[in-house]
Amino acid sequence: MKIEIKISPDGLDLPKEIQDGIPVDKMQDACPVATQDPMINAENKQVAIDDFNYGPSTNPEEACGSCTAYNITPEMLECIGDDSGMVGYCQMYKFMCAADNVCDSYASGGPIEDLVA
Ligand code: SF4
Repeated sequence: MKIEIKISPDGLDLPKEIQDGIPVDKMQDACPVATQDPMINAENKQVAIDDFNYGPSTNPEEACGSCTAYNITPEMLECIGDDSGMVGYCQMYKFMCAADNVCDSYASGGPIEDLVA
């Protein structure tokens, strides 16, 4: 899997970003801010709910756990601090999402398990 990191200005066009690549995260102590700040995580999650219908998946074949934006690298799991195996980080909308949920932006090809050199 190829991972592309881009720096995008505020007001980015997310559907366009989905085509062009996934925007880079703001980091805090080497972790995305949303994994360290519950308020930011909740805000970003609410955007996914309101604008992209994030919620329970009705199709097990299409869920966050197999989405190309679902990050479960060892480094990310350490940031998340959850060892249930059911929580990862959504690179697209910048929040900690559940493996068995999904949103309108689902794209097969995930999860992200290792960083590519
Ligand atoms: S389906 Fe993909 S883009 Fe949508 S919330 Fe889950 S991981 Fe993020």
